[in-house]
Amino acid sequence: MKAKKYWILVSTLIVVVFAYVGVQVVLAPESNTLPIPPTPDFSKLTAYPVVRVVDGDTIVVSDKGKDVKVRLVGVDTPETVHPRKPVEHYGKEASRFTTNLLKGEKVYLVGEPLPGALDRYGRTLAYVYRAPDGLFVNAEIIRQGYGHAYSQIPSKYMQEFKQLEQFAREAEKGLWAPVPPVVTPKGEAQSDAAEYVYVASVNSEVFHQPDCRWAKKISPRNLVGFKSREGAVKSGRRPCKVCKP
Ligand SMILES: [Zn+2]
Repeated sequence: MKAKKYWILVSTLIVVVFAYVGVQVVLAPESNTLPIPPTPDFSKLTAYPVVRVVDGDTIVVSDKGKDVKVRLVGVDTPETVHPRKPVEHYGKEASRFTTNLLKGEKVYLVGEPLPGALDRYGRTLAYVYRAPDGLFVNAEIIRQGYGHAYSQIPSKYMQEFKQLEQFAREAEKGLWAPVPPVVTPKGEAQSDAAEYVYVASVNSEVFHQPDCRWAKKISPRNLVGFKSREGAVKSGRRPCKVCKP
């Protein structure tokens, strides 16, 4: 009799636990599924004042009065200040976003892969956390769609960053929102949203009708528009075999 009661109790408990877990999984809000990496212990870290924001993924902090340029690891935002490249689509917006997050603030830096690691431009590579609320700025830029996960510089959080980018893309946030075509570096195509008839990627030799399924895969920052078929052909591109523009 005792054993039977015990088993009833145990099986009831199992049912309750599974039901509870199941309900939690179903009720878990979307944001809880986003992979924000763990927060470090800030008590051992120095909070450096932000001197200025260079662009979306680069800032200058003051270390005992000395300016230190910091490149945020794992994220790449569109160019605004590269000496040889044009301002890319969304570059200004990305720069403004980071400025809004960090202007007048202090930040904690966690070096990646090591404290004080530099990239080939002499910038300190780091994860940047806003003090005092601990916002993980690298991740926040990607989550809000102002930059993409960037694997050229190794990062232990690359998988999380890629998931955040996927989330931003699906939600069409920031950079990933549908936009009219932009002028290419060569100036080969200029058009308004209302004017373009054909589209292409700056990286591709094929042009499409705007509603082609391949056209829809082109990232907004790479999108080029053409006012005429002639213009598209003149750019050196050939028509897509799927949409036959
Ligand atoms: Zn096509």
